[in-house]
Amino acid sequence: FPSQVDVLIIGAGAAGLMCAAVAGQRGRSVLVVDHANKVGKKILMSGGGRCNFTNYYCAPENYYSANPHFCKSALARYTQWDFIALVEKHGIPYHEKTLGQLFCDNKSRDILDMLLAECRAARAQVRTKCGVDRIEALEHGYLVHTALGRVHAESLVVATGGLSIPTMGATGFGFDIARQFGLKVLPTYAALVPFVTAKKLREAMTELAGSATPVVASCAHPSMGEGSFREAMLVTHKGLSGPAVLQISSYWKAGLPVDFNLYPDGDLGEYMLAQRAHKPDSQLLTVLSSLWTRKLAAFFLPEGENRPLKQFSDKALAELGERLQTWRVWPEDTEGYRTAEVTMGGVDTDELSSRTMESKKQPGLYFIGEVVDVTGWLGGYNFQWAWSSAHAAGEVV
Ligand code: FAD
Repeated sequence: FPSQVDVLIIGAGAAGLMCAAVAGQRGRSVLVVDHANKVGKKILMSGGGRCNFTNYYCAPENYYSANPHFCKSALARYTQWDFIALVEKHGIPYHEKTLGQLFCDNKSRDILDMLLAECRAARAQVRTKCGVDRIEALEHGYLVHTALGRVHAESLVVATGGLSIPTMGATGFGFDIARQFGLKVLPTYAALVPFVTAKKLREAMTELAGSATPVVASCAHPSMGEGSFREAMLVTHKGLSGPAVLQISSYWKAGLPVDFNLYPDGDLGEYMLAQRAHKPDSQLLTVLSSLWTRKLAAFFLPEGENRPLKQFSDKALAELGERLQTWRVWPEDTEGYRTAEVTMGGVDTDELSSRTMESKKQPGLYFIGEVVDVTGWLGGYNFQWAWSSAHAAGEVV
């Protein structure tokens, strides 16, 4: 176990391993320590086991932060195209699934193996089961007390990630380090997370668990503004999930309603009027079942309304259409960090250089990846932030 390195990185996840490879390739001696028994656990479980490692359309607009400009510099200097080039250099097969989202053809393991190969080539050392007890700032560098011994490092990089999925090794340790050195940490909350709905709705929808349909989900956050995503919604035993719900959860806070347009492709009232003109004897449920599953259609149809279309007035169809295009849900809560993909908030970007990720008040201390108050949309954006911020620090540590 080395007692002296140029760069000590805490956290062998996406950002930590990337930073180690970049710094090591510059000739810096690098040690990465992680308290978990294995490295890169979130990479392995990501993207349903296929790691959605970046997005063709990645841009600063796909990120939330108290300072939306902060992410621009790092994202511009190490882009999705740079990461794709690395993936191609390692011969990893991948494909675009939807909306620019790039996934491995095989397993997430390919991405982790690629990062570890880059670390090996850069002679960066990685140690697991190595928690950190204490950090002391010295006149030059840091003395870090770890489970495997004390290390003196010129630069200290915090890459401990966010709070989501504690069973995978997530801790708030990065936030504690920030506070130890007087850096401000913005409030954190679970994002990209399913909703738990109120008991009455949950029970009414229990039979529908597993049903999915395309929607536009919208929510107006008091400070972030209105968010709106067109993707699939999925009914679960606890409430609502699916990509549209995960995306809009980033705008939600307790007490806010979320609106769902269940017919995102046009005007449902007009659609039903057109159907009435063509097939006046069709039952309303049959018509709606061509848009959604029969179970979902039956759920959204008001009781006793399953009559032939010809029995509905223009006004009645317009009103029903309007109601189904503005279905309002008041989530009781989210499923929380237990299932969230990411943590919103974190180390205040005002404290860091956007070019290097170094603390402005504590020289030699860097924060990269999810521990920083930069959170991406669903779709490969969070990994791209990990790669870009890690690269920015890796070039200077
Ligand atoms: P992490 O990858 O979480 O790494 C942090 C590391 O620090 C971990 O290895 C941890 O063990 C270690 N650590 C924590 N505390 C300590 C401590 N006290 N001492 C020592 N080590 C510590 N994003 C995408 O872009 N695409 C996806 O497909 C995707 N899928 C996801 C699926 C799931 C189920 C989850 C939970 C997340 C997913 N994400 C996805 C988000 C993505 O995984 C994270 O944004 C990304 O891993 C953040 O990288 P990081 O290096 O900052 O943190």
